[in-house]
Amino acid sequence: MLKKTSYAQAINDEILEKLSLKNRYAWVNNNLQSILTTEQFNFFRKVQRFCLKFEKKHDITHKTDEDIYSWIPEFGAEGYITRAHSFECCDLNQDPHGAVPDFLRNLAMDMFDPQFAMAGGATVLAINPVHEHHENIPVRLEAMKELATGKTPGAICITEPERGSDAVHMLTTCDEQPDGSFLLNGRKIFNTNAPKSKWIVVYATSEQNNGNTMAQFLVNSEWDGWNCERVFIPWVPKVHLGHETFENLRVPKEYILGGIGKGREHLFEGLVPERIGIAAMGISESWGALSFAAIYANMRKQFDQEILKFQGVGFLLSELWAKTTNLTWGIFKFIENYDEKMEKFGGQLPPNIARALVASASQFKFHCTALTKEVCYECANLMGGAGLCDNTLMHDLLNISRIQEIVGGSRQIQQYIMSMALRQLFKMI
Ligand SMILES: Cc1cc2nc3c(=O)[nH]c(=O)nc-3n(C[C@H](O)[C@H](O)[C@H](O)COP(=O)(O)OP(=O)(O)OC[C@H]3O[C@@H](n4cnc5c(N)ncnc54)[C@H](O)[C@@H]3O)c2cc1C
Repeated sequence: MLKKTSYAQAINDEILEKLSLKNRYAWVNNNLQSILTTEQFNFFRKVQRFCLKFEKKHDITHKTDEDIYSWIPEFGAEGYITRAHSFECCDLNQDPHGAVPDFLRNLAMDMFDPQFAMAGGATVLAINPVHEHHENIPVRLEAMKELATGKTPGAICITEPERGSDAVHMLTTCDEQPDGSFLLNGRKIFNTNAPKSKWIVVYATSEQNNGNTMAQFLVNSEWDGWNCERVFIPWVPKVHLGHETFENLRVPKEYILGGIGKGREHLFEGLVPERIGIAAMGISESWGALSFAAIYANMRKQFDQEILKFQGVGFLLSELWAKTTNLTWGIFKFIENYDEKMEKFGGQLPPNIARALVASASQFKFHCTALTKEVCYECANLMGGAGLCDNTLMHDLLNISRIQEIVGGSRQIQQYIMSMALRQLFKMI
């Protein structure tokens, strides 16, 4: 229910009612019907029905004082934390699963609540490396099951106060002990969900500034030596980010996902799904903003006409709609192809294919995050004062869409990766 405001209602009852989640889903469904197969569409509708019921059952108003972390267990019980994997390895057998179902899950959840979807994305980033490197070790499987079923959110700690874009020259150290455990010392920052998470994937290095000595660990925040303060990001006030200090944080042997020398490879392997995930989130936010603006512009009257009928509004909205539709087709082609390849190669992409996908992931991340920033801002703008007040989710969409270019490697870093790929392509001719 859109009752976001604690202050005066700026949008009239008739329009506000029409802007319900149910109607926004209906609008997007009509748009995506031509892209989705019946099976895909049915799954999409199923997640939507769950979100609609959840919103009603808990009287969710999307106001800033709501605790999005308390929603996780119910979504987890339905298998809506991630659909990237089946989780047969921990007896969950999620069906359907893969990049396409996960995109649809995210789209439905993003339209329900963008901050909730964004925080969920960080849990997925913690799940992926554990899924890749659990080696059937019971404590890792148990941790993964807790994350995948919503018992706890998850986080990843890559970024450090002094090492952001330059993530492979880490300062956080890991020292191997005679019993095979490691002691971690150092600081991390901007880690989505970290203050709320039990399980966190942490990167550290045995020699500072040497990417060849990086390692990857699964850490329990209840262990001694884990200290975490919240970093407040005003653009996403419901999402909790962490600033951690590790003081002789001991990681037992069973929790080492990648030993010294494996950390960088594990970090890069996670970047393709992470960047595609951020691209998908950007596209989801664009659909969210379009659904609000398209309904609003068809109802709001000025000069005795629906504002959509004025070229300044209608043509701009059409342009944003076309760009979003086209990029959605592009992402869809990529993720369908990704799922086919994963199936063909038994869940493990050959290194040459994985390498080729790196540039595509950067292209999508770059393009979708640039688009969502434009779409969310312009849609809010087309709604005039109604797009700026707190009656709808436009404010959340506007702010989140401006964060996407930073997370998962900034715009300039994606451009750098793409320019390196252009160099490689040149060398191949
Ligand atoms: C909301 C949010 C959530 C986040 N979640 C996580 C998380 O879950 N886990 C995690 O580990 N981190 C997370 N981060 C951190 C994020 O990945 C970093 O903020 C990002 O990588 C940039 O690092 P930085 O902030 O240190 O900026 P810097 O690296 O200091 O960059 C500052 C500016 O310099 C530019 N720049 C830097 N190097 C170059 C270069 N070589 N060429 C051109 N320009 C360059 C950048 O593009 C940027 O514009 C999150 C950040 C935010 C804001």
